[in-house]
Amino acid sequence: MSQDRAGAAAVPQLRAAIRDIPDFPREGIVFKDLTPLLLDHASLTAAVDALAAWSRPREPEIVVAAEARGFILGGALANALHAGFVPARKPGKLPARVVTADYELEYGIDALELHADALAGGARVLIHDDLIATGGTTRALVELVQGLGAIVVGCCFVVELAFLGGRRRLGEIDMHALVEYTAQ
Ligand code: AMP
Repeated sequence: MSQDRAGAAAVPQLRAAIRDIPDFPREGIVFKDLTPLLLDHASLTAAVDALAAWSRPREPEIVVAAEARGFILGGALANALHAGFVPARKPGKLPARVVTADYELEYGIDALELHADALAGGARVLIHDDLIATGGTTRALVELVQGLGAIVVGCCFVVELAFLGGRRRLGEIDMHALVEYTAQ
């Protein structure tokens, strides 16, 4: 199995465990609810294992994940990779000096912050979030990580909403999602 196909066997199981919630958090958005996947230990393990299998050859030293849903698997993924974990938090939550990036969501505008001293120059960073939609969140994380002098070795997600084109926003950066949706 190639690295990019890592975890392919688990995809039908994971897809079946993701539930569509129409018109949440607002009309016209189909929310991909991962809570049934998280509830089922076999699916939870399969998701972490598949994300780790893709990420491991990229030799990350740190996993950076976005508040809040990126935190759910981000810590487990960092542990599986024997990497450290750095939380990217909503403004005003981190206690020490921060760097901030604003970004657009599929359904709003927000900002994320990292502790300014969280990443050493040249550190190998894997970015994780539960889902990539327009790519705005991940793009902001890439800019924060690179702005601190660290290297983004890849970005991984449980879900990609491919019809929103988030992958293009990441340019040359290597990314992988376990479950892809080509239409809403
Ligand atoms: P984006 O910045 O557009 O790539 O949006 C990704 C972020 O928004 C992730 O943190 C997701 O948790 C959340 N998100 C955006 N669209 C959806 C959706 N349709 N279902 C679930 N989460 C979403």
